[in-house]
Amino acid sequence: MAEQLSIFDDLPQGDAGAADAPPASKEPAERVVELRNLLDYYAYRYYALDAPLVTDAEFDALLRELQELEAAHPELASDDSYTQRVGGYLLDQFAPVRHAQRMYSIDDAMGLDELDAWLERTERELDATPEHPVAYTCELKIDGLGIAVTYEDGRFVRAATRGDGSVGEDVSANVRTIADVPSTLAPKGLAELPAGEEGRALEVRGEVYMPKSSFARLNAERDRAGQPVFANPRNAAAGSLRQKDPRVTAHRDLETFIYAVANPERIHVRSQHDFLGWLRSLGLSVNRNYRLCQSAAEVHDFCVRALERRGDLEYDIDGVVVKVDDFARQAELGFTARAPRWAIAFKFPPEERRTVLRDIRIQVGRTGVLTPVADFDPVTVAGSTIAHATLHNLDEIRRKDVRVGDTVIVHKAGDVIPEVVGPVLAERPDGALPWEMPETCPSCGSPVVHELGEVAYRCVSIDCPAQTSERLEHWVSRKAMDVDGMGRELIARLIAEGLVRDVADLYGLTEEALAALPTGRAYKTAGKGHAKGDPIPTGAKTAAKIASQLEASKGRGLARLLFGLGIRHVGASVAEALAGAFGSVEALRNATEEEMAEVEGVGPIVAAGVAEFFATPQNLEVLARLEAAGVSMADAAVPAGEERPQTLSGLTFVLTGALEGMTRDEAGAALKALGAKVSGSVSKRTSFVVAGSAAGSKLAKAQSLGIPVLDQAQLEEILDTGGLPALGGK
Ligand code: NAD
Repeated sequence: MAEQLSIFDDLPQGDAGAADAPPASKEPAERVVELRNLLDYYAYRYYALDAPLVTDAEFDALLRELQELEAAHPELASDDSYTQRVGGYLLDQFAPVRHAQRMYSIDDAMGLDELDAWLERTERELDATPEHPVAYTCELKIDGLGIAVTYEDGRFVRAATRGDGSVGEDVSANVRTIADVPSTLAPKGLAELPAGEEGRALEVRGEVYMPKSSFARLNAERDRAGQPVFANPRNAAAGSLRQKDPRVTAHRDLETFIYAVANPERIHVRSQHDFLGWLRSLGLSVNRNYRLCQSAAEVHDFCVRALERRGDLEYDIDGVVVKVDDFARQAELGFTARAPRWAIAFKFPPEERRTVLRDIRIQVGRTGVLTPVADFDPVTVAGSTIAHATLHNLDEIRRKDVRVGDTVIVHKAGDVIPEVVGPVLAERPDGALPWEMPETCPSCGSPVVHELGEVAYRCVSIDCPAQTSERLEHWVSRKAMDVDGMGRELIARLIAEGLVRDVADLYGLTEEALAALPTGRAYKTAGKGHAKGDPIPTGAKTAAKIASQLEASKGRGLARLLFGLGIRHVGASVAEALAGAFGSVEALRNATEEEMAEVEGVGPIVAAGVAEFFATPQNLEVLARLEAAGVSMADAAVPAGEERPQTLSGLTFVLTGALEGMTRDEAGAALKALGAKVSGSVSKRTSFVVAGSAAGSKLAKAQSLGIPVLDQAQLEEILDTGGLPALGGK
């Protein structure tokens, strides 16, 4: 524990001590005030900004220290203390919603001993006997964001965040976009709800979360677009739910698990495990991994298994919630100011390991941003071996105060992304110096620029080989111009030989030059008739293939071109939105930032990135050379009179799986030509899902939401006739 807290050393004096041992020099009263201030600030970062400064384990350790101090010194207790509240902040951009009943937090049990102590206490308070034992429902503790969803007469009317427990934020428009939140409840389950004054109002509660795979995808996309990444799936879910524009939420792949209602006394069921079954009968998403346990030993067993298997789940959990099963016994125990007495959260210890930081090296991205990366001795965390982690920027390194040579604590954010948590200060070697950003670019030697107000340090040289190679790799990548056969090694060689400096140069390469090029791979492996280490030319066959791929890439369309140019903040979907709205590079270049920002999915930040791109003369010069080489700068306008009638307007299609004889992009473009919208994720708003072979989770989601699924033959019929096929039997 002590080493986890060591990273607080750079905070105001006094935080360096271990959580369970406040610094001897501090008076308890002083420490209590300090802890309250710290907790308030960290909670503000976590709840209001979705940008935590410390890990949950560190936060919980400080909270625990405060609870213990307040218990030992009752004269210091205060109603304002974080220990007496449900944490949470309200953002002004959402209307406040008062909850029908208070939303509580849950007390923690750190470790099995504390869990056992709680079980013993609970059984004592409930006068448990062998004839009348206490049963518990054990549920996974989903690491997401608590929400309350209100239905009236079975219809969705409102959704709110937990907020401070009494008042939450109205996020109805955003929650409506979450595919597994039904807009109407299933009549079968609803029929069992007694009619009341509230017009059969039902407020269900649960957790909004982001699956690990969606989190990894979202962060990879944000990283590519130069946007800050989310620390973990919980923060990503909170940030995605609390969006001004629900269309952004709709694209974030959020899901829910529901586990409670506001007023359980109105419900006919009398126990938590029956209640979970009833929630499912309403059509709500309920986690299946729960168990009714008849003894403390069974509870114990469930917690240990959940801990062992957490890595196998598609979503993050941070513990197990143990609930007294019988509602009458729950009522007997009641609530404290912040939590029910009938439930406890058995918190998992964070999966963290120690290792030694060997180096902090610089990666130069395609926009010239210098990103420091930590290289450490390989360690196994959450099931895989890690040896590197991004440190993001200099501010982050200073905040964490990590130095080369330090023993550091590493973990995986959301069990996915390796992260250096902080140094173990007690083990810092003598002479370890604070890390400094290099003054020159490690790739090209040009001076590094740090603009006022920006976090990033950049190499602004247009001749930087590291940037050039990143830019070229991005240009030829599958989602951009898709030049098959042109990989990292070949690009590195082209740059080293002085044959290309920017993407336009690729189109000046002759087949002969490509064929003669000694590829990097040939340097490493022995080939026919060559000794290991001999340079081997690319060869005529490969060169011809690459040349034809380059030729084909000239007509990939405006969206891919815009994405391939690597404009700041322009990811693949933004590029598509811009291409759809403007149709040509010329029109986009002539558009004002306001006009761009009005396009769906594009905001002022993206618009500024695009404007900056066109304001840079070198970029215009590259565009001119690309155009001269024959790269198409506009989407072919449909000749007048040949436009197809917009028979599919208002309909949204999702394509999944492999189609025969056409790519999904081609099918999507053909659907768009008929006025349809094509989206990447399935939601309640999806009109049809087209499933090719080997369709996976999107198909399953469509089926669970009852969205009609079309096969390839039906798709082709639509494309041929422009009309919808008969859907009977589907
Ligand atoms: P909590 O997350 O520890 O537990 C209560 C919550 O668990 C409930 O409100 C509910 O939303 C959720 N939950 C998930 N699955 C559940 C289930 N099956 N049944 C019932 N509830 C379930 O407590 P909290 O008050 O919501 O938040 C505290 C957490 O936030 C702690 O983990 C703390 O570390 C973290 N936090 C971190 C920071 C930071 O800076 N890192 C700051 C503030 C809070």
